[in-house]
Amino acid sequence: MASRVTPCPDCGTKNRVPVGSAGRPRCASCHADLPWLVDATDAELASALSTSQLVLVDLWAPWCGPCRMVAPVLERLAVRYAGQVKVVKVNVDDNPLAARRFGASSIPTLAFVRDDETVGRIVGAQPEPVLVQRINALLAG
Ligand SMILES: [Zn+2]
Repeated sequence: MASRVTPCPDCGTKNRVPVGSAGRPRCASCHADLPWLVDATDAELASALSTSQLVLVDLWAPWCGPCRMVAPVLERLAVRYAGQVKVVKVNVDDNPLAARRFGASSIPTLAFVRDDETVGRIVGAQPEPVLVQRINALLAG
């Protein structure tokens, strides 16, 4: 199973967070919830979406300028919502099944998924406060 090295925002310890896990990743040192931001392929998507957390799927491609603007925003959101929101990045060039599933004909497309159901979609690069508002509404609902 693929994983990504993520520094703990609280103590700085470098942890490996898995693409898929039933639980939620915590810092091995201080046990704080870790930001959960991973890259997933078509083959890993089902396991990446299999979580009780709200999932924000980022459908992007390396050549897409607006996608590069959204990337650091998603990194910050993963930290801000550690333990609540998982960010799953999918490169649509390499993963056509995921692109089709979320209707990513235009990118960036952000899809919100809960319990394997798409509960929201945002097309195009949106400013961070717009994403925060949307996430807060979904977490409250
Ligand atoms: Zn820590």
